[in-house]
Amino acid sequence: MVKIIKTRAKKIFTPTKIPGAKWVANQYVGCEHACKYCYAKFVCKWKKYGEWGRWVEVKENASQLTRHFVKGKVYMSSLSDAYQPLEEKLLLTKNVLQSMDKRVELSILTKSDLVLRDIELFKRFRTIEIGLTINGFDGRLKKDLEPFFPHHESRIYALKVLNEEKIPNYGFISPTIPGIVDVESLVEETKDFVDKYWIEFLNLRASGKDFRNWLIDNFPESYSIMSDYEKLNAFVSGVIEGLKRLDVRVEGVVLHLKKWEIRRL
Ligand code: SF4
Repeated sequence: MVKIIKTRAKKIFTPTKIPGAKWVANQYVGCEHACKYCYAKFVCKWKKYGEWGRWVEVKENASQLTRHFVKGKVYMSSLSDAYQPLEEKLLLTKNVLQSMDKRVELSILTKSDLVLRDIELFKRFRTIEIGLTINGFDGRLKKDLEPFFPHHESRIYALKVLNEEKIPNYGFISPTIPGIVDVESLVEETKDFVDKYWIEFLNLRASGKDFRNWLIDNFPESYSIMSDYEKLNAFVSGVIEGLKRLDVRVEGVVLHLKKWEIRRL
């Protein structure tokens, strides 16, 4: 059972350094999806609600706070998934979208096909894009890393439907880990119905000690590449060459070194 903490926020659009965005909107903080590698849990570690994935803050007044126009891209969300399971009942994201000024330039990233519920709302926005995180985890990998998430096939289906409905979409290939996530085959599988891609390599530091230990135990060669700049650099160059051959639009390849680094093709 997930603990729900009802709060009231002073503002909902906060400035961000996330590549390509000016603002971030988090109507939820905390995430039932509880990915093992989640970076948000570190940003939230000072909140003493218990284990990550077992609590969610719900900003009850979020929809009132989104009525005013802000200039520049708004990214939803960085500290949760706007379409985590409890959204189905609470409808907070839906209410936020309904009240949001439709001139706002909106970018939503999710791992859930629940996003398809709001297609008609998306069509009312002047500028919008919807991203689905894809990584191909299944079987034991999914059980270990993303136990509570919709399967790969549901995310692929969501991308297809968005494309059919003419909502701009993107594939967010993340967390890219050598030997675990096959970027080229994910692009091959989706390029007929995906407008563009972001590739994000794992943030090894922010993924946390438990995840690093899991990686060392289960995929020592992957860990050895991720933790060695020279090896990682060579691997990234190979991925970029592969993407060039596939001739798709890639917004950037994101690396978490001492700070963000975005490589363009
Ligand atoms: S969906 Fe995103 S915010 Fe939620 S647990 Fe997974 S990585 Fe963290």
